[in-house]
Amino acid sequence: MHSTVQLLAKTDFPPIQRINLQTLQVNLGYLCNQSCTHCHVNAGPNRTELMQDEQVDQLIQLMRQGWVKILDLTGGAPEMNPRFKRLVIAAREFEVHVIDRCNLTILSEPGYEDLAEFLAIHQVEVCASLPCYLEDNVDKQRGKGVFDASIVGLQKLNQLGYGDQLVLNLVFNPQGAVLPPSQQSLEKAYKEVLLEKFGIRFNSLFTITNMPIARFGSTLISKGIFNQYMNTLKAAHSELNLNSVMCRGLVSVDYEGTLYDCDFNQQLGWPIRDRLGRALKLGSLTQTALNDLPIVVGDHCFGCTAGQGSSCTGALD
Ligand code: SF4
Ligand code: SF4
Repeated sequence: MHSTVQLLAKTDFPPIQRINLQTLQVNLGYLCNQSCTHCHVNAGPNRTELMQDEQVDQLIQLMRQGWVKILDLTGGAPEMNPRFKRLVIAAREFEVHVIDRCNLTILSEPGYEDLAEFLAIHQVEVCASLPCYLEDNVDKQRGKGVFDASIVGLQKLNQLGYGDQLVLNLVFNPQGAVLPPSQQSLEKAYKEVLLEKFGIRFNSLFTITNMPIARFGSTLISKGIFNQYMNTLKAAHSELNLNSVMCRGLVSVDYEGTLYDCDFNQQLGWPIRDRLGRALKLGSLTQTALNDLPIVVGDHCFGCTAGQGSSCTGALD
């Protein structure tokens, strides 16, 4: 049987032109307080892979250069890396906008009682996955009790001003092999239900298309519907979305400091390579260092351009 990596490599996806970098999306490691069955990096409480001081120092050095506008932190639970706060404080000193991809339950874990307040003080944007506003669906996807703990986390954030003057965004991705529904209508439904049932406010809902890679890709293969899903993505390809796919101005960094065009390429293990074929590392990064290097595309890229388009900040159009 082919792996998703093999299936995606041969592609007719059009080449994409890079523009100057503005965003660093950084995976701080695979340690997490949860172990969701769908997790694309198999994160969990026993994982030991964490970004070390050397790479964190390199990131701070890059932000000192003044061109980084956004630092987008992912994991695992990025807050569980003991260097998280140092990195956020440094970023804010350089006036870099920080996004924390937060699983919400971490806000109630012992030892993290001050985390929500820390995020608020440093005006960190919180971006949290809430795959549904119904308890059963969330617990099925992310584990028993996760919905209740997520609601508590959201209420805590609201009390600190999130959803008002501080930015709190939620992320939705479909449960199956279908494209997400309209972001606008779903956001409206989320806002109504969360406010009415739990008094929760948030800024925007990001709908994200499931990528045919990692665990979701393997599930598609084992169910025999990989090609069918690829056809759905390709049939919905919109040329216009090519202008705003996130890899044009973003670089993704893994916990060891290797560079990728996006988080999806990171999951596929497809790094950005120099002309000699060497995988690029943080130490060689500048704002323009990647400008002449091609963006590594595969069939999964149709996940970014299908329908209303998809990125880590939701729909593109
Ligand atoms: S909370 Fe996120 S990073 Fe942690 S196990 Fe679940 S999906 Fe993975
Ligand atoms: S999958 Fe990555 S490389 Fe491909 S279009 Fe999307 S962001 Fe760009």
